[in-house]
Amino acid sequence: MGAAPRRRDFRGTSDRPWPGAGAKVGASTPSGAPGCNRQPPASVKNSHIEWTTHTFNPWIGCARVSPGCLHCYAEARDQRFAGGSHWGPGAPRHRTSTWAEPRRWNRAAARRGPPRPGERPKVFCASLGDWLDDEVPAAWLADLLALVLATPHLNWQLLTKRPRNFHSRLQAALPLLGDAAVRGQVEEWLAGRAPGHVWLGTTVEDQRRAEERIPLLCALPAVVRFLSVEPLLEAVDLRATAAGPRPPVHWVIAGGESGHEARPMAAAWVRALRDQCAAVDVPFFFKQWGCHDEAGRRCTKQAGGRQLDGRTHDGWPRGFEPLAAAV
Ligand code: SF4
Repeated sequence: MGAAPRRRDFRGTSDRPWPGAGAKVGASTPSGAPGCNRQPPASVKNSHIEWTTHTFNPWIGCARVSPGCLHCYAEARDQRFAGGSHWGPGAPRHRTSTWAEPRRWNRAAARRGPPRPGERPKVFCASLGDWLDDEVPAAWLADLLALVLATPHLNWQLLTKRPRNFHSRLQAALPLLGDAAVRGQVEEWLAGRAPGHVWLGTTVEDQRRAEERIPLLCALPAVVRFLSVEPLLEAVDLRATAAGPRPPVHWVIAGGESGHEARPMAAAWVRALRDQCAAVDVPFFFKQWGCHDEAGRRCTKQAGGRQLDGRTHDGWPRGFEPLAAAV
């Protein structure tokens, strides 16, 4: 296994918490958070998700945990192809056969040589389940951790609706890790020394989930912490969730819901998120309107697009690129 990439400071990314409750949500900063907009070479990207390069699903299956799950794309897909047999409490999850792909992406990235800033491939794990699902066998998670730690040329984007499970799940996987070096790295992670190429994120679709999950995320060891505010179901005030000297969130992604039964997302909620991010210099990425456009009219996802107030918002976590010499 190669050495983990070294970490740089978050230059240009504020370590301030969200500003105090005195400021008005939705005020000012009409241009939004700028952020950099670099991606790996277009030929590398094979995920349709705008904020990643590759999608890797180690397993398929999950159980609903909150309102954001109501129209879960992955559950509908499992219904269609497997009769829903991998969904819900007690349902066995399905281990996929695509585990060689991240190693292939990692080798290809290594062959390309030191990346220019922003060009490290990103891997979103997992879109058809949850990497911290406590009904997944611990041995599978042990294999996933070994894979993540063996592929340091990739930036892993580990997104979960279950940040509360981080320590218990990693502790359960720990004795199942056969390689002493990998076990040592996971022990280091649990002790607070995060791998340099792993980003941890949580989904917050409403105010309650923001207040529950953001403090949990902020307490986890990670070089980048991010929020996926999708599907955005109501106005969310991030400032109520991280008051005090907590480690910061480094990136916020927002988006609306897609599909026949998509719930509408008010433009004012998106603007308010954008402006909260701009106020504390946190990059903001607006992924999509979904199946309601900026004016709240039903539309296709394609027609809805991803412009807000006449422009795209493509912020990325700034100041995070491994030093070329360590790649
Ligand atoms: S946590 Fe994610 S994958 Fe699991 S049911 Fe909810 S939306 Fe679907």
